[in-house]
Amino acid sequence: MPHICIIGAGVIGLTTAWRLAEDGHQITLIDGGEQAASGASHANGGQLSYHYIAPLADAGMPLKALGWLLQSDAPMRWQPAADLAQWRWLWRFLLACNTATHQRNLLKLWQLAMHSRLQMRDFAALPHADYARQCNGKLVVFRSAAGFAAARRGMTALARLGAEQQALDGAACLALEPALAAVAYRLAGGIFTAAEEVADCLQFCQKLEARLLTLPNVRLRYRTQATGFGQHQGRIDSVQLDHGDAIACNHVVIAAGCHSPALARLLGDRLNLYPLKGYSLDMPAGAQPPTVSITDADHKILYAPINGRLRVAALADLTGMDDSLDPQRLQSLTRRIAADMPMAGKLPHARPWAGLRPATPDGLPLIGKGRYDNAWYNTGHGALGFTLAAGSADLLARRIAGEQEPASLRGLFQPG
Ligand SMILES: Cc1cc2nc3c(=O)[nH]c(=O)nc-3n(C[C@H](O)[C@H](O)[C@H](O)COP(=O)(O)OP(=O)(O)OC[C@H]3O[C@@H](n4cnc5c(N)ncnc54)[C@H](O)[C@@H]3O)c2cc1C
Repeated sequence: MPHICIIGAGVIGLTTAWRLAEDGHQITLIDGGEQAASGASHANGGQLSYHYIAPLADAGMPLKALGWLLQSDAPMRWQPAADLAQWRWLWRFLLACNTATHQRNLLKLWQLAMHSRLQMRDFAALPHADYARQCNGKLVVFRSAAGFAAARRGMTALARLGAEQQALDGAACLALEPALAAVAYRLAGGIFTAAEEVADCLQFCQKLEARLLTLPNVRLRYRTQATGFGQHQGRIDSVQLDHGDAIACNHVVIAAGCHSPALARLLGDRLNLYPLKGYSLDMPAGAQPPTVSITDADHKILYAPINGRLRVAALADLTGMDDSLDPQRLQSLTRRIAADMPMAGKLPHARPWAGLRPATPDGLPLIGKGRYDNAWYNTGHGALGFTLAAGSADLLARRIAGEQEPASLRGLFQPG
């Protein structure tokens, strides 16, 4: 069987390894980190958000983003840099900010999300596949009447695709989720999706890793950085490592999150992917934790009950490859949580974390091959990597095998 070297042991690389190993391939999965999921997959929001897949790029976004530039605690922040990749990303992002493109891409992401949901069931059915998965529903709340009205219009489009959602007024939001008590009087309403799930992405990655380690056709190597590629007669035949050695392979898969463009450049491919830094806080549940996942649409903050704890995820900063915790951003986030959900979690015990979402300008992941016939990409999942991982892995595995792909996904997400 062909030997496939996968670069990156985040949720995307691990699901890809699992899916390709099931096909019987020899797999070597390498990662520069100490352990699985040391990048963006480490402490994300935990949403398996199959119904909330709308790309960030939308008609109203440029105006909204301009307003945010003037606010120090805005949900998005942009730090202009002398970095061509940033400007190229922004230009393509602006081009994608129109209703027609948004609707087209939403439909594509919907197909992939539904495929992922199906594939995820296969994993959930495996023995010892406990990763704190819960189907407790998601409530997205809106403070402005205009935002709520727009969301209700969006509901109609999703209903046509088969989504089951309910529009609730402020009082009904509070009745469903008493943890909203401090903000309920300011709510115009909310949209509730009962079928949405939540899980611990790190635990999922660790379970996958444990499963992979039991398979005779899989090798995992941590603290191993890919630095280059060897080629022979127009095909990649090895991955060069920082240790000085190399891994011979028949195919390579790049699933290196925000580091994927740098590896792609070595292969002569250009990926338009840029980091969108986000923050999370994981803390013990407070006196009144939410029982459903709540998204505050106006402040773009997510509150999720995971594993008996509270996970809060927020912010999207266009500040390059820097994943350090900015004390100012962290402070504005904790202030907001303390004001809006004072009893949801024990904030003084919160563990802060920041990660880089590998975002493409139009919100579509890149799944397929580039210039070389045997060098593949599975990357660019932005804010939806956990949600889309299982479906993306299946799609890539079928492409590598030259198999027919599901009709709903045919030809989609090809890089370049
Ligand atoms: C705050 C926040 C909240 C989020 N919330 C959600 C959510 O609720 N639901 C959801 O679906 N998604 C969410 N996401 C997005 C999701 O976490 C990402 O899309 C996903 O983790 C990306 O996975 P990945 O495997 O592509 O990248 P990563 O997890 O970053 O993994 C890439 C790996 O590649 C390795 N690597 C890089 N370069 C090399 C190299 N040269 N050699 C060897 N190894 C290398 C890195 O060490 C890293 O381990 C969130 C993200 C953030 C930041």
